[in-house]
Amino acid sequence: MGNPIFIPGPTNIPDTLRRTIDIASVDHRSPAFVDMLRPALDGVKRVLEMRAGETVIFPATGTGAWEAAITNTLSPGDTVLAARHGMFSHRWIDLCQRHGLNVQVIETGWGNGTPADAFEKALRADREQKIKAVLVTHNETATGVRSDVSAVRRAIDAARHPALLYVDGVSSIASMDFRMDEWGVDIAITGSQKGFMLPAGLAIVGLSERAIQATETATCPRCFFDFAEMIKSNCDGGFPYTPPVGLIRGLNESISMLEAEGLHNVFSRHHRIAEGVRCAVKAWGLKLCAREPLTQSDTVSAILVPSGYDANAIVAHAADKYGVAFGTGLGDVAGKVFRIGHLGMMTDVMALSGIAAAEMVMADLGLPIRPGTGVAAAQEHYRTSCHALLSKAA
Ligand SMILES: *Cc1c(COP(=O)(O)O)cnc(C)c1O
Repeated sequence: MGNPIFIPGPTNIPDTLRRTIDIASVDHRSPAFVDMLRPALDGVKRVLEMRAGETVIFPATGTGAWEAAITNTLSPGDTVLAARHGMFSHRWIDLCQRHGLNVQVIETGWGNGTPADAFEKALRADREQKIKAVLVTHNETATGVRSDVSAVRRAIDAARHPALLYVDGVSSIASMDFRMDEWGVDIAITGSQKGFMLPAGLAIVGLSERAIQATETATCPRCFFDFAEMIKSNCDGGFPYTPPVGLIRGLNESISMLEAEGLHNVFSRHHRIAEGVRCAVKAWGLKLCAREPLTQSDTVSAILVPSGYDANAIVAHAADKYGVAFGTGLGDVAGKVFRIGHLGMMTDVMALSGIAAAEMVMADLGLPIRPGTGVAAAQEHYRTSCHALLSKAA
């Protein structure tokens, strides 16, 4: 018997999607594959809210999409601007450095979001326009912090700077509001195993016209992740190599499920569930790693444990005794936070079970938590804010 998992990716896989991806081999040079690929690429465009540009899908994960974004549009020695405020923003910076880019890093402190004002300052100071791209981790999964991408776009525009804007939306896209065109995002990246509720295996990328143009002059070596080759093959109805057909079929079905619910409703559901978790955290007398309420993520909550307690022990005990998976603290916040992932296939009632499990674990380990307090606070929130099922019936 399995419990839902509460890690911020991979997320719980709906039965429908498990059945959809379980297919016999398909000849990927046959029309059957073409009929699957084009709707998936178009569907991703709708989820990203983009009209112009292209979407591409690689057999990889979010990390592969980071690499694809960098190698296709930049040249060794190019400068990029990024803030470091968690494990994922840190790892993207590291990946850039290993590709020979010069990363201008703004250290922001774990628990904070991307500082649009500091970015504007850095861009204004860059009179020679050395900065070619600005990187934003939309949702820092390690700390549960959401950054304001539109504020970064305004900062770039205010500085009248031509830098491109790249956004890691791995743990936000398809769960939280994302607007490629409106925010002027040039490259958006995600993976299949978070908001899309599939197993890991697809690196999903949205490209603006400007990002596609940048591939013409970029000299970083790339082969497997070549955007131009992929776009050309896709136009001819195929793939440059063997595509992960089952997952692409699953992506179509996932997008159908998201659109049947309505993307707006998907985002409100994530917000409501996250608010319930935040009510529970407050009732426990604990604090989130995300300092500002406006930056608190709707897909993952990183909860600070009181000093003297080990957050890793909470995660280990939850797995050992109750068979429930929570996320550990990564990097600078290792041992200090545990994370409840609440994205993808998640309902109010599923979230309540995660909150209840966390309470049992903390009580077992002697934390000053009274079991039931968090659950009650979340129940109250869900009872008063959930109208979705009622209105559906009407
Ligand atoms: C999960 C995640 C990644 C890494 O994705 P993989 O699919 O594990 O390679 C990158 N960025 C963020 C924000 C993530 O949440």
